[in-house]
Amino acid sequence: MNEIIIGIDLGTTNSEVSVIEQGKVTIIKDGDKKMLASFVGIDDAGQVIVGEMARNQYLVYPERTIKSIKRLMGQDSQVVLADQAYTPQEISAIILTRLKGIAEQYLGQTVSKAVITVPAYFSDAQRQATREAGEIAGLDVVRMINEPTAAALAYGAMQAEEKKVLVYDLGGGTFDVSVVNMQDGVVEVLSSHGDNHLGGDDFDQQIIEFLVDHIQKTHGIDVHSHSKAMARLTRAAEEAKFLLSDQPYAQINEEYLLEHEGAAVHLSLELSRMAYEEMIEDYINATIDATHTALKGAKLTAPDIDEVILVGGSTRTPCIRERLFNDFGFEPHSEVDPDLCVAMGAAIQAAMINGQEVDTVLVDVTPYTYGTSAIGVLDGQPYPFMFVPVIHKNSVLPNRKADAFATSYDGQDTVEITIYQGEDPDALNNVKIGEFLVEGLLDVARGNVVTLTLGLDLNGLLNVSAVEKETGLEKSITIKNALSQFEGEALDAAQQRITSLFGQLDPRVIDADTLQSSIVSDAPEIAAARELIIKAEGLFAKVSDEDKEDMAGLIEIMRTCIEAQNIEGLDEPSAQLTDIIYYLES
Ligand code: AMP
Repeated sequence: MNEIIIGIDLGTTNSEVSVIEQGKVTIIKDGDKKMLASFVGIDDAGQVIVGEMARNQYLVYPERTIKSIKRLMGQDSQVVLADQAYTPQEISAIILTRLKGIAEQYLGQTVSKAVITVPAYFSDAQRQATREAGEIAGLDVVRMINEPTAAALAYGAMQAEEKKVLVYDLGGGTFDVSVVNMQDGVVEVLSSHGDNHLGGDDFDQQIIEFLVDHIQKTHGIDVHSHSKAMARLTRAAEEAKFLLSDQPYAQINEEYLLEHEGAAVHLSLELSRMAYEEMIEDYINATIDATHTALKGAKLTAPDIDEVILVGGSTRTPCIRERLFNDFGFEPHSEVDPDLCVAMGAAIQAAMINGQEVDTVLVDVTPYTYGTSAIGVLDGQPYPFMFVPVIHKNSVLPNRKADAFATSYDGQDTVEITIYQGEDPDALNNVKIGEFLVEGLLDVARGNVVTLTLGLDLNGLLNVSAVEKETGLEKSITIKNALSQFEGEALDAAQQRITSLFGQLDPRVIDADTLQSSIVSDAPEIAAARELIIKAEGLFAKVSDEDKEDMAGLIEIMRTCIEAQNIEGLDEPSAQLTDIIYYLES
């Protein structure tokens, strides 16, 4: 075999090294970590440190720690580290030397060749500086490839079929969005746009300032001047951010944060995903604007894009996926670990240069979206069964995600939770796979929070739990075979079988249970009407007599229509009742 060529993602925040072994990509770990923090420092003993240790000392000893050196690559400047001046190439070379060492230790042999990835927007000077950094580290950089190209390779760009792919890459300190054309292993970057100073670090900063403000308000202390406390807040902010990617609330507790006037100051507060997402909204808007610009640059519109790939750790932030769907109709892929996919692509490119065979990177993903329904707005109209996705299609398995929902009227003591599988914004057009009631909720004003958690394992077992946030009251169910429900051709075939038995059916109401027991469900309009009636009756306790009378009148008409299976007759009273409910709840 030819000499091994390693793949390197030399990132602003984190770097990784990878190699192809027996046709498969291996991300080489440093101890138990797949990522090496792109930090270089000098420790107390005067030794050079790289990675986590350097990152840990950054806030306390900024004068002897360097971060984000990638931003300076190609510039005629120097950085000072413990009173010594270094070029950006030299600092990058320290990181590359460490990565080379990690690879050599794992492979048990010397490594001298590498493929290194660079941002698509890197100029010649920046590329040249990267090559020089490699040389200083003793690496012959056999090829430099663009990061979106590497990401596309990890997602199977070797396939023959031509595709237009949008790569949305949001890391710790940089954002890039590129449109690429891929075919037969050739990836051409059609356009690229971004912001060199936008990323997860900015999100952390928002949380840090929120915590600093909180301490200022509650204790009258400005924490900015307490560097150790700031270091702890920085870490706590990032941890809270991670939690909020999977759950609707994060509890932040930092005991003995600092001492003030002889007393210990503790920090304890809760941050909701909603509040956090408001803090970062401007940044997300900027990425959406850049995405429009990249599409324009490629002379394409959203429907021309065949696939969207998410790259970079910050793309785990749920509102990013939501915005890409709402603003462009994109349903992005993130099944290849967004932190590692560029490094994987670098190894794939290295293997292609070496003439090695590479298997596609296969991971288990959910073929469907799983979620529930809630009152919302659909096609500009208030609608009681808007689909709210919780676990998105193409998410890696096993997966666990939570979202918060609020009761909609005062004294609501019961919530009915229905779980759907599918992609339609109208929940009733998706497949209903389970439902349950949570009873005995607190007798409090509307807005009582119930957290819904969905956990899906590799065997298709879907655990659903609903917890009243205030009391911890919990109800849960397990849905078997959630991965093997009917859809597409299987659904059509099943529908034909059942239709021939029972006459015309609407496919939207066939769920697994219905099929198994061969019982015909309500048409969706009738199911919707029934749920609307339940919802309306639940509101009776809080409405005026006049409203109640109006609602009861409409409900009676609807019941008569349901009895007679008169779907058309349901239209008008259902619309009127929906309007009243929407008015009462808004
Ligand atoms: P990268 O530069 O691709 O390694 O991305 C690093 C950034 O991703 C950092 O700002 C991390 O805090 C952020 N990140 C990693 N995991 C998550 C997560 N689960 N949720 C939100 N941000 C994350």
